[in-house]
Amino acid sequence: MNPQVTTVLSALARSVERHSARIAVVTEDGSSLSYAELDAQRRIAARALLAHGVVRGDRIAIWSPNRLEWIVAGLAAHSIGAAIVPVNTRMKGAEAGDILARSCAKLLFCAGRFLDTDYPALLAPHRTSTLASVVVFDETRDGELSWQDFLLKADTVSESCLREAENAVQGSDLMDVMFTSGTTGRPKGVMTTQAQNLRTIAAWSAAVGLVPEDRYLIVNPFFHAFGYKVGWLGGVLAGLTVLPHAVFDAKAVLHRIARDRVSVLPGPPTLFVSLLNDPERASTDLSSLRATITGAAAIAPSLIERIRAELGFKLVLTGYGLTETCGVVSLCEGGDDAQTIALTSGKAVAGVEMRCVDPQNQPVPAGESGEIVVRGYNVMQGYLDDPAATRETIDADGWLHTGDIGVLDTRGYLRITDRLKDLYITGGFNCYPAEIERQMAAHPAIAQSAVVGVPDERLGEVGRAYVVLRPGQTLDEAALIAWCREQMANYKVPRSVVFVAQLPTNPSGKVLKYQLRDTTTPSS
Ligand code: AMP
Repeated sequence: MNPQVTTVLSALARSVERHSARIAVVTEDGSSLSYAELDAQRRIAARALLAHGVVRGDRIAIWSPNRLEWIVAGLAAHSIGAAIVPVNTRMKGAEAGDILARSCAKLLFCAGRFLDTDYPALLAPHRTSTLASVVVFDETRDGELSWQDFLLKADTVSESCLREAENAVQGSDLMDVMFTSGTTGRPKGVMTTQAQNLRTIAAWSAAVGLVPEDRYLIVNPFFHAFGYKVGWLGGVLAGLTVLPHAVFDAKAVLHRIARDRVSVLPGPPTLFVSLLNDPERASTDLSSLRATITGAAAIAPSLIERIRAELGFKLVLTGYGLTETCGVVSLCEGGDDAQTIALTSGKAVAGVEMRCVDPQNQPVPAGESGEIVVRGYNVMQGYLDDPAATRETIDADGWLHTGDIGVLDTRGYLRITDRLKDLYITGGFNCYPAEIERQMAAHPAIAQSAVVGVPDERLGEVGRAYVVLRPGQTLDEAALIAWCREQMANYKVPRSVVFVAQLPTNPSGKVLKYQLRDTTTPSS
């Protein structure tokens, strides 16, 4: 991508101009639309946003599984300089409501099913804030706008009004606010601009070698950088065919690969484990598969070999990134040898610096481990309304402290070895124990809890909670797990609970999680 192209609209315009008649998106039900048609829908949705009072600098939230309307709403918002706030579809209403309130989203686009169970919790923290309307993507329901109702209002805004709004957009406008948890236990909104994301996406596309002939299946959720930035947006800007897929189910994905002749399928390691283990794999035509990019969790070299040999991917790349870096820090390249791809997460993408530092913030020599720090155009602007957390994460010299521990070799290739931050990854989803413990503290019988990740064959890691009860209280594992299911996204719910009289702590009272982890057995 040309470095002069700093807005999503200008990058999109190039795709539309070059590939106007080419298929841009094929939906799960098999309908397709060309780049010209996608852009026409984007323009209507952009005028509708303006008609609903959304202007440059505003935020709109999207809480829906992967689908075409997500893409159209996202492009429409970007084209008028409004930022999108993707909301994790696994969240419960109260969790999503907190994000809506803190991001001051003006509109919420969502899937109807979230309104059935979660509506009161969703709107409770939001009554006094700015949310003007809820638009339901997939249904018509009383009292809310359907996607069609929303679009109808476009008629009240002229094309020249839209052009004026489009012309005002700058590369420095916020593209999105993506909520991610940290050690503080409460999700923080990562702010990044259009220009920095476009540059990151371009670096990623070049490394993967995306071409317009590619058919790109996106199972990674759109609320994560993997499904959104280097997912559908990267695909659209590369002029290829994007295939959004809502729910991960091995059989459905295998069927989709064969039906839509998928050539590129990125995903976390657990996705490939499920595909490899599915009995229908052997009878599925996987001959179209060309490239995959995996990461977001450590991956065993033997799994990479199986992905290549048994699923037939010619190119398997690994990479490393964070929400705070527009999703990308380092990547392997097509020319890298198999050993490098299996054992490392690649080297920093062009224009980005990566180092490993000791606790005094001094770079460690190649071959020694230290905290991974990153500097460059991909580093976020900061956390929304949280200058203290921003200062803790980005130091005075502009280095973002990732909380991950790694080793760089003499060529600059990274091997991630450990984590400084309290985080484990279950089936590709990040779990921040501090956030889960904060939610568990609301249970009346619980005095204290500590959550750790324990190894799990299928999901990589799963959560185990160590719980101290209040005096005189009783609670069993099943009841606590059932309660957690009502409070938090399912992937955060601990799989097992161990009741203990007290938690091991250091002299200053900090829970010694490594001691808990060392005494745990793998989950059954
Ligand atoms: P997120 O902000 O959700 O993208 O999560 C970022 C975190 O995922 C990083 O800080 C790492 O802890 C982890 N992560 C990302 N890529 C890898 C990888 N290739 N290997 C191990 N952990 C990873």
